[in-house]
Amino acid sequence: MVILLKKNPEQKQLDNLIHWLKGLGIETKFTVGHHSTILGLLGDTSIVDIDLVRALDIVENVMRIQEPYKNANRKFHPDDTVIDVCGRKIGGGNFQIIAGPCSVESEDQIISVAKSVKAAGAGLLRGGAFKPRTSPYAFQGLRGTGIELLLEAKAETGLPIVTEIMDASHLPLFEQVDIIQVGARNMQNFELLKELGKTNKPILLKRGLASTLEELLMSAEYIMAGGNKNVILCERGIRTFETYTRNTLDLSAIPLLKELTHLPVIVDPSHATGLSRLVKPLSMAAAVAGADGLIIEVHNDPTKALCDGPQSLTPAQFEDVACDIGKALDVIGKKIG
Ligand code: PEP
Ligand code: MN
Repeated sequence: MVILLKKNPEQKQLDNLIHWLKGLGIETKFTVGHHSTILGLLGDTSIVDIDLVRALDIVENVMRIQEPYKNANRKFHPDDTVIDVCGRKIGGGNFQIIAGPCSVESEDQIISVAKSVKAAGAGLLRGGAFKPRTSPYAFQGLRGTGIELLLEAKAETGLPIVTEIMDASHLPLFEQVDIIQVGARNMQNFELLKELGKTNKPILLKRGLASTLEELLMSAEYIMAGGNKNVILCERGIRTFETYTRNTLDLSAIPLLKELTHLPVIVDPSHATGLSRLVKPLSMAAAVAGADGLIIEVHNDPTKALCDGPQSLTPAQFEDVACDIGKALDVIGKKIG
């Protein structure tokens, strides 16, 4: 981090700043020029509150040279992290498809969808039990019962299960869940992230509706700082001015995140577009752009789905999409599973 000081900074304020930084274990190095004085900071500057420094009277500007995230940073961990979920590897060249309904609705529904997505090549089953809905009058999910039904589907098919948590107090219900999802709306629920940091469960962290990649990485850092290094990032589209799609898929996030972090990066083309017919082209694009996997909504009868029907594929459509994802992966020498 570099601090550009204003001309003729007041000595007492400068001494206070240096003293405060020293207390944080940070050494300072002065470079005095004709027009300005620069203070170089040496040490772990991730703990320095940049806005606090910028607000000081004697400070003209502050620039970060190092990213504020350490655990998630590829600079300190050059090798790809590979997350192994019951033998299904995600990351480091391993590509997985997570598929299933937006919400678990009944025993028949989740078991039939689980069987069909498994047959088409999905390695993991998704299904929401606790649903974050915009309207309090919309279906809120089967909650604990939904998780029990997912476990039944797992027992029936062998597919590990992925489901969303909305409140840390529900954690005991997630004991047998294989991957805990943190949804877009909770990406910056820092108390929840801290609690998940104390577990050793793989966490699927979705990008917030209007979050930058740095904010996503800082949220991953919250989980990792607590000791849980099993984080999978998910690009699921962000809010833009475009209204034809539910969100706008930020494809550039994939190669950029792969540069910045060693964590696996997967893509959710269903929530990114809101339209089932766009799931295939965007899945193929994401696969070729270097994603480590996809999470796709599949429903036995999308027209009757209690949540997100318009973006859900039928099992037959999913089979077709999975087949073309396989062809796209051929281009870059990867395969599903
Ligand atoms: C979901 O996966 O069902 C979901 C609610 O996703 P997001 O948090 O990305 O909106
Ligand atoms: Mn959904």
